[in-house]
Amino acid sequence: MSCSRLPVDYGLLRCQRSVKKTVLVVEDEKLIRWSLAQNLALWGYEPMEAGDVASAAESALGRLPDLVLLDLRLPDGNGIELLRKLRSEHPSIRVIMMTAHGSPEDALAAMHSGALRFLLKPINMEELRGIVRDALESVDSGPQREH
Ligand code: CA
Repeated sequence: MSCSRLPVDYGLLRCQRSVKKTVLVVEDEKLIRWSLAQNLALWGYEPMEAGDVASAAESALGRLPDLVLLDLRLPDGNGIELLRKLRSEHPSIRVIMMTAHGSPEDALAAMHSGALRFLLKPINMEELRGIVRDALESVDSGPQREH
């Protein structure tokens, strides 16, 4: 139901702005990036795309995304370093790491640096859909407390 169709006297119904949540996909493999962005758009999010660390940092400066899907190995750097930088500048930012060649050390480093999840490629889109939904559900209720 769009806001404009609400009868004026529905005073108790708040008109919620339907602002799409933004998800920044940081992935150098074009086909994977494209496919992630396509799916995110289908699921009702607004995808942003970056192919390396530099453009991801630039993109996050322009508009801070609600969630970042971040590849571990990027042409100009390491996703974990970008994760740390993003998390130190924006403590509430949510980041999901992805990699095709993850070691247990990488996974630990990612989790210690504040990643929500560490996913192995190939990414299962149905699984990702639930993970993204869960990650973004908590955005409205404010930053999660860390224990
Ligand atoms: Ca990569």
